[in-house]
Amino acid sequence: MVQFFNQFSRRRFLLTAGASAAGSLLLKGCVGNPTQPSGNATQAQQVATNISPEQAPETTTAKLGYIPIVESAPLIVAKEKGFFAKYGMTNVEVAKQASWGAARDNVEIGSAGGGIDGGQWQMPMPYQISEGWITKGNQKIPMYVLAQLNTQGNGIAIAGKHKGQGIGLKIAQGGETLFSQLKQADTKFKAAYTFPQANQEFWIRYWLASSGIDPDNDVQLLTVPAAQTVANMKTGTMDAFSTGDPWPYRIVKDNIGYMAALTAEIWKNHPEEYFAMRADWVDKNPKATKALLKGIMEAQQWCDNFDNRQELAQILSQRNFFNVPVDVLVNPFMGKYDMGDGRTIDDRTMATFYWKDERGSVSYPYKSHDLWFLTESVRWGFIPEDTLANAKALIDRVNREDLWRENASEIGITDADIPTNTSRGVEEFFDGIKFDPENPTAYLRSLKIKKVKV
Ligand code: CA
Repeated sequence: MVQFFNQFSRRRFLLTAGASAAGSLLLKGCVGNPTQPSGNATQAQQVATNISPEQAPETTTAKLGYIPIVESAPLIVAKEKGFFAKYGMTNVEVAKQASWGAARDNVEIGSAGGGIDGGQWQMPMPYQISEGWITKGNQKIPMYVLAQLNTQGNGIAIAGKHKGQGIGLKIAQGGETLFSQLKQADTKFKAAYTFPQANQEFWIRYWLASSGIDPDNDVQLLTVPAAQTVANMKTGTMDAFSTGDPWPYRIVKDNIGYMAALTAEIWKNHPEEYFAMRADWVDKNPKATKALLKGIMEAQQWCDNFDNRQELAQILSQRNFFNVPVDVLVNPFMGKYDMGDGRTIDDRTMATFYWKDERGSVSYPYKSHDLWFLTESVRWGFIPEDTLANAKALIDRVNREDLWRENASEIGITDADIPTNTSRGVEEFFDGIKFDPENPTAYLRSLKIKKVKV
């Protein structure tokens, strides 16, 4: 693949620079300190009046779906702390989704049909929906990826009965033996996630395969609703579970199992979930889209501040959001993990990030990460291999990093925090495997266990 990722064109830079100058004048008084609460309606409306008439959104309403895991925090905080309202989006509804499948169904029908306009997604769901891979009747419903919501914050939980048998970040010989014994006894090791062919399945597959366990032959992978998985692990019918906080932490807290790995251990600063909307909604409401995105970007900065994380945990723990005890959220937010097998982690760089991590911008949606999710989909035979040959056009259609950049300039984000390339560059996993976005085929070739023949 030749020059998959380029530096931005001079033309786009000039456009952005122009918008930045205009934006900083127009938004004077809005830019300010994102940590200041502006939750009450009166204050929010007052601030919204600072928006110039030409920036006024076409609609003040949007319906955004979320799943009650830490990835959704920027959406909930943008609503609760008044960041949406600050930019004139005074009637945003953040709607809890019963499952990822329900979120997919709801975005298919849109808010006009009682569904949602967009919201929180695992990758590559916006692509799967845009291309009609997972929709009813394979209908193509174009979506735009507008921001990444977070990095890290996920993990792989193992049922307590397997403790001490070598199933850790790197699966030791004892673990390998256990997998093969269970396979021979026709009771394969069962590992679950809440939606197939997206992040959770990719993390568990990557982790297993890196230790020589073939996820398609040596274990049984299946989709199970989160609550049911926990119940099944309690009764001993489920062996492992890949998901986001607070579920892994609860499994340890309730003494149901332990954590084999944090996803931050598998791939430090890895891309996780995304904010994406139906393309028709964005095309019809470009100013409202920018207002939503600005609200989310400010919320991400607020969420990222460790001084705010106790309050963040309190907001999310509420009955109408996650409905969990606040203490199951606080520790992971501070990078403190009790892995449940005697191992503890106390390292802020292992926590979830919303705005910036060690690799730079979190909120900016790197095209190179979308390519990894598509490449991994090819690796496991979820999508045809020739998808990679057309990946550039597909990613250019779905990933609207251009809108992120425009907004960043308009809300006064410094140049240092605005990536200069759509690629984050070479990625490295815990087992030494490297993904060079310029050559996804070389990555596929370097992997021992895969379904695709390259
Ligand atoms: Ca996740």
